[in-house]
Amino acid sequence: MPKIVILGARPAGSSAGYHLAKSSHQVMLIDKDCFPRDKVYGDVISLESVQVLSTMGIYPQDIESLASEYAQIDGLLLGVSNEINHLQDTHLKGYCIPRFVFDNLLYQKAINAGCVARTQKITNIERYHP
Ligand SMILES: Cc1cc2nc3c(=O)[nH]c(=O)nc-3n(C[C@H](O)[C@H](O)[C@H](O)COP(=O)(O)OP(=O)(O)OC[C@H]3O[C@@H](n4cnc5c(N)ncnc54)[C@H](O)[C@@H]3O)c2cc1C
Repeated sequence: MPKIVILGARPAGSSAGYHLAKSSHQVMLIDKDCFPRDKVYGDVISLESVQVLSTMGIYPQDIESLASEYAQIDGLLLGVSNEINHLQDTHLKGYCIPRFVFDNLLYQKAINAGCVARTQKITNIERYHP
């Protein structure tokens, strides 16, 4: 029987599950939703997040391959009401990855680390891949 139950299998739950399972804990990941699924999101993975992800064995080259169809962010594009776009110089740099793909990457890491899942599964993720 799992000794630790985590409610919510998105970034926080999956990464917590990954690290706990890697530390030899028995972990059950439960999500109330059909999982993985898309989410309203900016799709931005900041460079700070990329550093944290390396602790889960997800390295910049993995992120880049997932983001290859999308932009590497060098600035923040702001749309304003007069329809003029401004590319602002900003500290926010990173990658753009569909949330569906990103969440699934973390989820699979948790499962591969040994977490037992109690979620539904969608298998048509291919449509989100380049
Ligand atoms: C509009 C918007 C845009 C955003 N854009 C960005 C962005 O571009 N870049 C960025 O880094 N962050 C962005 N964020 C923030 C980001 O979405 C959150 O920081 C992140 O999703 C938090 O992850 P989490 O795992 O803590 O929670 P969540 O992603 O909210 O996941 C919680 C999970 O718990 C499950 N759950 C809830 N209650 C239960 C229950 N009782 N039993 C079982 N399961 C349960 C839910 O189904 C869900 O899957 C954005 C947020 C919003 C709202």
